[in-house]
Formats: sequence, structure tokens, C-alpha cells
Amino acid sequence: MTLLRSWVKSANVPQCPFPLNNLPWGVFSTADSPARCGVAIGDAIVDLAACEARGLLDAGGTFARPQLNDFMALGRDKWRAVRQRLTELLAEGGDDSLPLVPMAQAQLHLPIRVTEFTDFYASKNHAFNVGVLFRGPENALPPQWTHMPIGYNGRASSVVVSGTPVRRPMGQLAGKDGPEWLPTRRLDLELELGAVIGGNSQMGERLSVEQAEDLIFGYVLLNDWSARDVQAWEYQPLGPFQAKALATTIGPWIVDQQALEPFRCEGAQRDHPLLPYLREQRPGFYDMTIGWTMNGQTMGQTNYRVMYYSSAQQLAHHTSSGCPMRVGDLLGSGTISGPTPDQTGALLEMTKAGTSPVTVNGQTRLFIEDGDEIALFAWAEGKDYRIGFGPCSGTVTPARNES
Ligand code: MN
Repeated sequence: MTLLRSWVKSANVPQCPFPLNNLPWGVFSTADSPARCGVAIGDAIVDLAACEARGLLDAGGTFARPQLNDFMALGRDKWRAVRQRLTELLAEGGDDSLPLVPMAQAQLHLPIRVTEFTDFYASKNHAFNVGVLFRGPENALPPQWTHMPIGYNGRASSVVVSGTPVRRPMGQLAGKDGPEWLPTRRLDLELELGAVIGGNSQMGERLSVEQAEDLIFGYVLLNDWSARDVQAWEYQPLGPFQAKALATTIGPWIVDQQALEPFRCEGAQRDHPLLPYLREQRPGFYDMTIGWTMNGQTMGQTNYRVMYYSSAQQLAHHTSSGCPMRVGDLLGSGTISGPTPDQTGALLEMTKAGTSPVTVNGQTRLFIEDGDEIALFAWAEGKDYRIGFGPCSGTVTPARNES
């Protein structure tokens, strides 16, 4: 696949995250107009609501709404038809009277109303490394890990868009003389990809991996902020709770499956065959660079293809009990880590549970300090173009210490 050239000149510049091949979906507002749906192209946003008002697109009026849920609910055929029409309109020789808004003048919002949030644990490197730190090498990887996607039901209410400040949470921590109530001392990030579910499944209905993939609208960058000291004290036997409820940051742009299709690839090698309900007809991973920075310095970088379970497998497993999925469901991939420390997606791994400091712009860190900015990045690299995801950042502000 090569670059599709657009009459929007900035979209043809090498390494632009938003060429015509990408067309990620989002929600934006400007100083004098309310939030509505748009698509990124070069350094601009196509105003989809204005396009529909002019009769250039047909999405039943859903683009005028301040989230993509109603558009997603129209179904996969509609997603593809609108994408195809936009590709024609934005191509060289297309319609250069399309309503564009400079990205610099737009404020980006949460692209979806997040109905539910589930987070998984699908990088074997990460699961093993963290397991060693919490339980030692013998018990690092739980026996079921290579047989099923492990996850927990998270909070949709604390999912925020890139740029939202993240307050350091207070929490109950284990102390020498009993529990203490303190600001977390071990605030961490988790580098993840979030799958956005664009359709509904019924209660009692089990989805195959292929049916599950058809329900995925697209992917966003996702930082699952984690308070490790809170987590260590609370997590047994029911898993993380307040350690992960403080905030989850997602990127403003949803990159859809069609943009990523040329990068489809195999994931990590399997230890043994999965049960039939988790087997996939074709691999559900993408060859995609993904990483994170602290205060502008690249800290960790790996590839999404290191993952053991795809989002489609996670979604199929999620419905295996008959649990219904809804438009706007968000599924976190789990922390994405490669095998070496500079490929890890969390400070817990990178600093070996806070024992081996890292250097950031000449300062040392074990975990995130107040004022630090964490930003995630990802791109898939074509022959002469890139599929980017835009920003996914958050700056940590001091705890409100109320006893
Ligand atoms: Mn996570």
C-alpha cells in the first residue's frame, strides 16, 4: 500500500500522522461552535456535520452529536460507505470546497461516550515480568494465562481525553504498623491500545472471534494510570480496584480497522493451541510501533505484534458467558511490553518495582512525580506514509491531601 494523495497538501507530507490512508474519527469544537464529529486529514479536521448538512454524506444526522456512538450504531456497512465517500472527496481532484477546520483552532473531546470499560492483560512479557515482581518467578504466570484472556471490569466514568490533568490519588497503603492513608508513592502508566466497540451483542449471545472483530469500530491509544502501592495492598483476591479507578486517558482519534488492514500480522508465538472458541481464522494483530515518553523523552518503545491475545479474541471471550456488549464499550489491550527494559510499557517493569532508577532529562525517576507529563505514541509505517494516532498525554497534579 502506498500513499493516497489528497488535495489537502499537509496530508501528503512524509510522516504526517493523518494522510488520506488514515482518516481517524473524533469529536471537536471551536470557539464559536459546539462539539461535533470530524475526521483528521493533514493539519485539519473535516467537519462531518457540515458535510452532512450540505448533502455530501448521509449518516442520519448523527455527525452533529458530541460523540460518535450514534454513528457507530448505524453499523459496519455505513462506516465503510462513509469512509469510501470521504476518500473520494478528499483525494486529489476531489471536492476542495469541503468544510475544513484547522486543527490548531479546534478543541478535541472524548470521541465516544464510554458505556463500559474492561481492561485486559495480554502481553506475555508484561504478565511474566510483573508476576515475578509480585509473586516470584515460579508463580509469575498464572496457569490459565496461556489459555484465556485475563481481564477485569474497570470504570467507564473516569475515562478522560488526552490533555486532561491527572490528579495523584490518595489511597490506603500497607505500612509497617498497619494501613496508612497517603498520596500514592508509586504512580505508574500502562501503555495500551483500546478497542472501541461499535455495535451491540445480545444477552446470552456468544460471538466468534470473527464476529467479534466485525464489531470493533477502531482503536485508540490508552493509558491505564495505576497506583502500584494501592494495587499491591488491595488486589487479592478480586483484582485491581481503586488502584486503577483514578483515571484512564485515551487519545482523541479512533483509527479504524480499514486504515490498519495493510498492517495485519501474527502476534506472539503460542505455547499451545487455544480452545476452539478462541481460535482465529486469521491473525488479529497489527505491525505497529507503540511507545511512551516522559517529559518529552522516549522511555519505552515496542511493537503491538508482541501481544498474545488480539482485541477480537478478548471480545469473543468477554461474550463467552453471554455478557452483552454495547456501542461505546472500551476494551484495553493490557500493557504492551517487549522483552527488554527499554521496550516496557510501565515503570513498574522498567525500574524493577522501584529498585532500579531510570534517567529522564538528567533527573532520576522510580515512578511518576507531580508535574511529570506522560505521552503515548503509535504509528504503522507504510511504504511512503504513516498511520498515526495523535496525542495521548496527561500531566500529573499534586494530591489533595484530606485526611
Ligand atoms: Mn491495564
